[in-house]
Amino acid sequence: MEVELTSEEERFKQEVRRFFAEDYPQHVITKIASGQRLAKDDQIAAQEALNRRGWFGVGWPAEFGGPGWTSVERYLFDQELERAGAAPIIPMAVIYIGPIICAFGTPEQQERWLPDILESRAFWAQGYSEPEAGSDLASLRFRADRDGDEYVLNGTKIWTSGAHWADWIFCLARTSREAKKQQGISMICAPLDLPGVEVHPINLIDGSHELSRVTFDNVRVPVSNRIGEEGNGWHYANVLLKNERLSYAHIGAKWRDLARVRSLAREIPAGGGRMMTDEPLFAARIARVEARLAVIEMAIVRSLREEPSMEAAAALKIACTECAQTITELFVELAGRNRAPMLDRFAADWSEAAPLVPAFGPAGVQSYFFERAQTIYGGATEIQKHIIWRGLARAQG
Ligand SMILES: Cc1cc2nc3c(=O)[nH]c(=O)nc-3n(C[C@H](O)[C@H](O)[C@H](O)COP(=O)(O)OP(=O)(O)OC[C@H]3O[C@@H](n4cnc5c(N)ncnc54)[C@H](O)[C@@H]3O)c2cc1C
Repeated sequence: MEVELTSEEERFKQEVRRFFAEDYPQHVITKIASGQRLAKDDQIAAQEALNRRGWFGVGWPAEFGGPGWTSVERYLFDQELERAGAAPIIPMAVIYIGPIICAFGTPEQQERWLPDILESRAFWAQGYSEPEAGSDLASLRFRADRDGDEYVLNGTKIWTSGAHWADWIFCLARTSREAKKQQGISMICAPLDLPGVEVHPINLIDGSHELSRVTFDNVRVPVSNRIGEEGNGWHYANVLLKNERLSYAHIGAKWRDLARVRSLAREIPAGGGRMMTDEPLFAARIARVEARLAVIEMAIVRSLREEPSMEAAAALKIACTECAQTITELFVELAGRNRAPMLDRFAADWSEAAPLVPAFGPAGVQSYFFERAQTIYGGATEIQKHIIWRGLARAQG
């Protein structure tokens, strides 16, 4: 579904397209296209190019160094970034905590943290989940005990994305024990190089070290590192989670990947002299995902005009993440099909019939594995369904 654009918006879209073609580090695009992981320096080069143009703090108001875009402009920017195959913006600093600092931080915090994010001097991590508090986040036990002008942090955060690159972490911490577990939680930020903080990498099924377990042993931070009021962290956490769930749309990337599936399928034999694009079951699967994606895109476009509810954000999170997973399944299916005709059952020496690994195979399989996590992080699918059910129950009295 095309968003109807004013001439001003159309001009903006062309300007963004030109930026990614001419002013953005092309080695980053090439690396991504060939399925390689980006190094931190690549990410910084990409961020610096965006920041030079004033486009890194997406979603931030102009007074804090953001582009101050309308939601349509933001949507067009995201579409063009993904269409160009540029590096996704690492969300923890810019998309998650940045807007919270803009909205709820003190002027001192805004001055201390926001420019470092924009200038790529500080990477951030999100310290929400704990070993016994994932879906049931409010049962978190990470403690911040007040001692004069400081908090003393103790506990463990887990599944912390990007902690190995991060300089800071924003944590949900229990500052008091209340009758209701959602109360008495505060949002507290800590540098990751303080004495008592340890980052332990976790190996993932796709071979990466994206995630870590982060332990805190009597780590002292000033009270001025708390964002917002003490005990009100659950509110900020939920504002952030809604932004997080809406950030999983990646419509441009999904269309780009589906187009790639179609083009690969035209070259991969399905047996019987047909290509995979003509194989009825596979063709139907592609068509089903395309139809689903068109519906999701329509809902996303609608959400640009009116602020979606928590329940709508939950529904979109389910739809977008399941759709992304289905697309990775199509890549794996194609990689497997590519091998099948190479195997000759009558070959005397099977090693001669060694299957060829198609160029897109390794990256396709890795993203298949990694994207399993999409329906877990940011709140698992079952939890999103619970949010929708609760909203419906409330609406029905
Ligand atoms: C790749 C990846 C990156 C992540 N990055 C971060 C990060 O940067 N920072 C961070 O804080 N966290 C991060 N997480 C953690 C993520 O938010 C949690 O994994 C998620 O909230 C689920 O919690 P859990 O792993 O403890 O699973 P559990 O809560 O133990 O859930 C296990 C299963 O039980 C189901 N379940 C649980 N409760 C219910 C219920 N009441 N009803 C029905 N079903 C239920 C869940 O849906 C799930 O399928 C990341 C996770 C992954 C996989």
